[in-house]
Amino acid sequence: MTITTPNSTTLKTELFIDGEWVPSSSGARFPVENPATNQVLTQVADGTAADARRAIEVAGSAQVEWRRTSPRDRADILRAAYELILSNTDELAALMTAEMGKPLNEARGEVAYAAEFFRWFSEEAARIDGDSTVTVDGVHRILVTKEPVGPCVLVTPWNFPLAMGTRKIGTAIAAGCTMVFKPAELTPLTSLALAAILQEAGLPDGVLNVVTTSRPAEVVGPWMASGIARKVSFTGSTEVGKILLRQAADNVMRCSLELGGNAPFIVLPDADLDRAVEGAMAAKMRNMGEACTAANRLFVHRDIAGEFSRRLAERMAALRVGDGAVDGTDVGPLIDQAGLDKVEHLVNDAVARGAKVLTGGDRLQRAGYFYAPTVLLDVPADAELNSAEIFGPVAPVLVFDTEDEVVQRANDTEWGLAGYVFTQDVDRAARFSAALEVGMVGVNTGVVSSPAAPFGGIKQSGLGREGGRVGIEEFLEYKYTAIPVIPASR
Ligand code: ADP
Repeated sequence: MTITTPNSTTLKTELFIDGEWVPSSSGARFPVENPATNQVLTQVADGTAADARRAIEVAGSAQVEWRRTSPRDRADILRAAYELILSNTDELAALMTAEMGKPLNEARGEVAYAAEFFRWFSEEAARIDGDSTVTVDGVHRILVTKEPVGPCVLVTPWNFPLAMGTRKIGTAIAAGCTMVFKPAELTPLTSLALAAILQEAGLPDGVLNVVTTSRPAEVVGPWMASGIARKVSFTGSTEVGKILLRQAADNVMRCSLELGGNAPFIVLPDADLDRAVEGAMAAKMRNMGEACTAANRLFVHRDIAGEFSRRLAERMAALRVGDGAVDGTDVGPLIDQAGLDKVEHLVNDAVARGAKVLTGGDRLQRAGYFYAPTVLLDVPADAELNSAEIFGPVAPVLVFDTEDEVVQRANDTEWGLAGYVFTQDVDRAARFSAALEVGMVGVNTGVVSSPAAPFGGIKQSGLGREGGRVGIEEFLEYKYTAIPVIPASR
């Protein structure tokens, strides 16, 4: 296997089209930076509109043969790629940490999580089912079959560079779809390593085409307008999701959109506080808070708000912040200057409006985009961070008095991805699960992501689900064939 860390030259940094590594048609390349050090790791091919058009044409041509492959063959490729990812865990984790910043132990966790999507969809590939019934007048038999939707446009964000790729690519492969794939410009290296792994696992040429670029609209725009792509699967901001949804309208493309979140994390007065603090650490600090499922607003009942916040602040203050590549680091840098500036602005705004800083509250004075793990208490309702995705290591605690009040405040957002509730009362848990306007609820847990679960949101958090039993349906079309029922006597 040829993956290596960026210090070595064996990682391919060209475009991957029709099974070949090719330079950008313009010859241009763009730099990839390590957010912990501000150092340039390497340069990758800067794909153009012409490269994009070629990639989607290749995907269109490859679709003809690829849809005819057997489920078992597609499953075997995914299974081989699953094994290859796991056997390259250390190198993939180091690559991810270098370009994205997350601590090595979290990067290793993501490698396992990402690989699991390939294993899950290797199993799903062989389980694509159909249906058979009869018309109500008994004249026709109805045979329902499922077919791949066709060439797919895949666009991923920078926060989970490997898992967002495998979650989309694994599903498309299982369903028999070909793909054009544009990883985030901040973290293209992991995706290029993934393409190399899939090639080694036996994926036929042209099924997956990867175009890295520093100008996303120039590459994705031609794909959406091509008339060849039949579906788009996107994970990223609500703003860009809306652009793609509008573009999809012109060719009536299927859309799976996994967009922003503003997760409420609710601690009821009867909660086990140890578990609630543990859950808050997981829901807030995984990935430095740079996750769409991250606890964005911590609603804590007035009776326990002081104690909960004190314990949370103690845990947050004890975290070791630094370069994720260094052993023992708990919290890495934020992704870039814009991410750091946004977090700083949101905290300053909350403090100016009366929030108290229990720990943190500032950026670190050193190279890289570091912000101190922060707990804010008594965050007022008009603070900007109530309606913005923080995407950083900041836990704002909002105090509430009654169940009705907290449900109303939790749902008072255009987003609806994840929500968390901590209580020891099973009736209350069920009540909150029903009342929260979200796609995913964690009860006494701060982790909701799993390949076996249908991941996704409602309201402006997106359309469709990834993973679980329904994930593959997003990449399949239903066809029904009417067959006359011939009476036995004829
Ligand atoms: P974030 O704010 O988290 O970076 P974005 O939505 O900007 O989220 O980015 C997610 C993905 O969408 C990235 O791969 C990015 O390159 C891509 N992207 C950004 N702008 C566009 C656009 N106009 N058209 C298509 N893709 C885009």
